[in-house]
Amino acid sequence: MIIGGASGIGWATAQLLAARGDTVIIADLDGVAAGTRATELGGNATGHQVDVTDEQAMRTLFDTVAAEHGPIGTVVDCAGISRPGTIADLALADWKATVDVCLTGAFLTVKNAAHTVRDGGSIVLVASLNGRQPGVGMGAYCSAKAGVLMLTEVAAMELAPRGIRVNAVNPGFVHTPLTYGATLVPGLVDEYIENTPLGRAGTPEDVARTITFLTSGDAGWMTGAAIDLNGGAHTMRYPNI
Ligand code: NAD
Repeated sequence: MIIGGASGIGWATAQLLAARGDTVIIADLDGVAAGTRATELGGNATGHQVDVTDEQAMRTLFDTVAAEHGPIGTVVDCAGISRPGTIADLALADWKATVDVCLTGAFLTVKNAAHTVRDGGSIVLVASLNGRQPGVGMGAYCSAKAGVLMLTEVAAMELAPRGIRVNAVNPGFVHTPLTYGATLVPGLVDEYIENTPLGRAGTPEDVARTITFLTSGDAGWMTGAAIDLNGGAHTMRYPNI
């Protein structure tokens, strides 16, 4: 199951998991897009509407999927938003909205997965380069993603006795609808790419391939890990994206 699976990194992941032969469940705030994506995948893929911040809706989603398909093998949380603003000027509502989707959503994902994922299954949370490195005007997002990294480690310890692995990925700048606004700021993405040793932004597929690896048996001895994938940008100080 992929939460936030109707767009960007989540959609790329859905396609790779379907190609691998998984039964793919796409859940997203945009239920129409989730349904359209599931139809595009074909097979027995299904789309569901869910707000990752809504405790009852998340429980219903996981219970419904488990009732229809049995214990779940893989859960990936790709739901994310970012409300920018320097800390001095950031509205509390924008702080709360970002932390709710990025961090509380990850918590509700792990909480419900803990009750519905089969022993030996796998959970992947999408954190960010900005969970490790600060970005000016990104206080809510950076703080939430840093929280996701610690949540990953705690959940990995708590679920290890059942063989459930919990890992995270930390993408750098990836072209998706989430980052479209940044591409409109003159010079911003160019500056970021200049500070990226491999000299390019990421694609959703770059991240999806790593997520797919983490959910596979090839990563069977990995838990509580967070994989950086950013063209080497983590070696630079304070990229602004
Ligand atoms: P995206 O906007 O293409 O996809 C995000 C998806 O999450 C959308 O389908 C959206 O409808 C869904 N979503 C938003 N709020 C939701 C909610 N409350 N409940 C359920 N679904 C919700 O963005 P993306 O770039 O693919 O982002 C995927 C993840 O990757 C996010 O966690 C994001 O923070 C993270 N990330 C992205 C980048 C990047 O540069 N694009 C970098 C690092 C981390």
